[in-house]
Amino acid sequence: MAILQQLADSGGETLTFVNDAATGLRAIIAVHSTRRGPAFGGIRTLSYRSQNAAVEDALRLAQAMSYKAAVADLPAGGGKTVVLKHPEMRRAEAFRALGRAIQRMGGSYFTGLDVGTSREDLQEVASETKYAASTLDFGKATARGLMAAIRAGLKAATGSDELEGRRVAIQGLGAVGGELARLLHGKGAALVVADTNAQLGLQVAEETGAEVVSPSRVLATSCDVLSPCALGSVLTAHVAENLHCKVVAGSANNQLATPAAGEALRKAGIVYVPDYVANAGALIKGVTEHVKGREVGFEVVDRIYDTALLVLTRAARENRPPSQVADDVARERLR
Ligand code: NAD
Repeated sequence: MAILQQLADSGGETLTFVNDAATGLRAIIAVHSTRRGPAFGGIRTLSYRSQNAAVEDALRLAQAMSYKAAVADLPAGGGKTVVLKHPEMRRAEAFRALGRAIQRMGGSYFTGLDVGTSREDLQEVASETKYAASTLDFGKATARGLMAAIRAGLKAATGSDELEGRRVAIQGLGAVGGELARLLHGKGAALVVADTNAQLGLQVAEETGAEVVSPSRVLATSCDVLSPCALGSVLTAHVAENLHCKVVAGSANNQLATPAAGEALRKAGIVYVPDYVANAGALIKGVTEHVKGREVGFEVVDRIYDTALLVLTRAARENRPPSQVADDVARERLR
């Protein structure tokens, strides 16, 4: 009963518990909404402190995927799988068992990558189900979408979406941030970059001429655009008040540590492109390929430009933080 109540409180539709004794697989598949189409969302593999924490995470992440799909106006809803990692789990076989469970859901849920799950894990899943985006380059699609979000942010902040000559600071140079640096360099932007892995900073600097700064300094860099592409909760109200940029647009999930941070950005005159608007590139490409039944080009994610401008324009008109407006747009479309 407690779990059913948690599901009801989240507004979700179904929770599927998967137990495969032979492989040690224990997983939870949360489907938040299929109102607009099948539920899309990747697989998070983590050792959770309790089963309850895993249920909560699955429900929260599935809801976030519904909002992300709705604000991007996709014919899709949101879902998420969490795999409860433990030492006895036989990894390859377990992910194949997960693939069979997803296949049994008959296409109401479609899966992909998330934190803690490797491309090899996803290949195992995809060997048992056709409902897995196993060939999608998530980092590339997300970085391309982020370019569109950055251009929209600049348009809203300065009246021009030109990237040439802009100074962009990137926190985190992994699959998304590294690709973003290369794309921005190709458009003539000047880069300031930081990663806790110093080697990545040096590599990107060599490829793009970027200035490398320490991870502790990157947020306070003077720049046109700050792009958090590492961790969530980087923007507290205090940090927001001390930024020296015109636009914040990054791929990290949950960049605002609190709603007050969104308000602080607005008061400081900084345009914030909501994280789940900016980082929807892989979802957009995955859903479009699923609907069309074939591979599509990366340009399909450029529609993030229009979505971001829609949200930013309404936020400016209503004098409210864009994060709140994005939630409203998503809720209106999910109704
Ligand atoms: P990744 O793990 O490949 O890269 C993250 C990078 O950030 C790593 O190189 C890491 O060393 C660095 N890092 C960690 N802490 C740091 C710090 N304090 N300062 C500077 N660098 C730091 O991850 P990714 O796939 O590039 O994703 C980046 C972010 O975007 C994540 O928060 C992820 O959840 C989010 N995201 C990714 C995608 C995708 O398609 N990959 C989609 C949506 C959202």
